[in-house]
Amino acid sequence: MNIHEYQAKAVLKEFGVPVSRGVPVLKVEDAEAAAKELGGPLWVVKSQIHAGGRGKGKFKEAAAGEKGGVRLAKSIDEVKQFVKEMLHNTLVTIQTGPAGKQVNRLYIEDGSDIEKEFYLSALVDRVTSRVSFVVSTEGGMDIEAVAHSTPEKIISFSVDPATGVMPHHGRTVAKALGLTGDLAKQAGVLVGQLYKAFVTADMSMLEINPLVVTKQGELKCLDAKVSFDSNALYRQPKMLALRDETEEDAKEIEASKYDLSYVALDGDIGCMVNGAGLAMATMDIIKLYGHEPANFLDVGGGATKERVTAAFKIITADPNVKGILVNIFGGIMRCDVIAEGVIAAVKEVGLKVPLVVRLEGTNVDLGKKIIAESGLNVISADDLDDAAQKIVKAVKEV
Ligand code: GDP
Ligand code: MG
Repeated sequence: MNIHEYQAKAVLKEFGVPVSRGVPVLKVEDAEAAAKELGGPLWVVKSQIHAGGRGKGKFKEAAAGEKGGVRLAKSIDEVKQFVKEMLHNTLVTIQTGPAGKQVNRLYIEDGSDIEKEFYLSALVDRVTSRVSFVVSTEGGMDIEAVAHSTPEKIISFSVDPATGVMPHHGRTVAKALGLTGDLAKQAGVLVGQLYKAFVTADMSMLEINPLVVTKQGELKCLDAKVSFDSNALYRQPKMLALRDETEEDAKEIEASKYDLSYVALDGDIGCMVNGAGLAMATMDIIKLYGHEPANFLDVGGGATKERVTAAFKIITADPNVKGILVNIFGGIMRCDVIAEGVIAAVKEVGLKVPLVVRLEGTNVDLGKKIIAESGLNVISADDLDDAAQKIVKAVKEV
């Protein structure tokens, strides 16, 4: 689960992490009070969306002006003007895709005088089974590009969970960033605070880009991106409350209500499969025959008729879906249950695109019979290869 920058900063602040003062703004009318509260003389007006690259992003609407999704304002009037231009408009960044994301929240911050910009992140490193830190002097930029062209500028180390952050970790960060004296001391404290926040809040990723040194000689986190481990959210009610469902895929939220593993994709063939492995194989074979899956969907081993119906509805609600492939191997799951679920769903929501069903396993004959006798326009397939070819052909003919 991801949260907004301003929420991430509020979480980090509780652990003592230095961040700028700021006020979230949801309405144009609130801009002036927020700007006055912060006082100036420099303000930063920041789009709050679950995507990075906002500074270099561009708004789609001409009324939003030429500037990007993060703007420096030098007067209260300018803050008001930016808020008016940015709020409710669509920001396109390298991470949003061409459709962009609507900016429904802004964060106004007390502007900092930047001396230097660094990069710092922490993540769960699956190789070492530890939390690893990544630091670089090349802050504010695309870190992937730095890793590619100048990998020597990226320093990383992992923290032993038995000891936690030690003084030498702080020295490693200070050295990597070329910090001495009081700034080196601040770096040591910061690494400890970030590690504590990361572990306590069950984060899976924490990225500070940029981490800055201000002209006043302070180390400060100017941007913060935090993701939480979804499997730990049950014990993080405070973090779960920060969830902004408008930033997530509506179909994925609906799927999670039915315990379906669903990931929306860009293709045009909707897939309903049981078991993650079979779902992956189904996606692969669709690609092999030259098409793209519209989703990954695992209805699970013990799916009920209700879950199958819900899954079918989610797939058909996607306007990109030009055809549906149901591929079920009935082990724990019985083919007749799947067949009944599919028919119930089709009767409820209608079927406007070709549907290929491949059933195999427990009660397969009964399942096929139920579908055949339903009178619905369903294309039956014998095996996975046959099914993939049939759905690709049917979609091409539409
Ligand atoms: P991102 O583009 O989505 O990563 O958004 P950031 O929060 O990282 O902001 C983009 C850039 O805006 C930063 O790299 C800074 O150069 C600049 N910026 C952000 N906050 C401030 C600030 O308080 N003062 C100044 N001078 N620049 C800022
Ligand atoms: Mg940034």
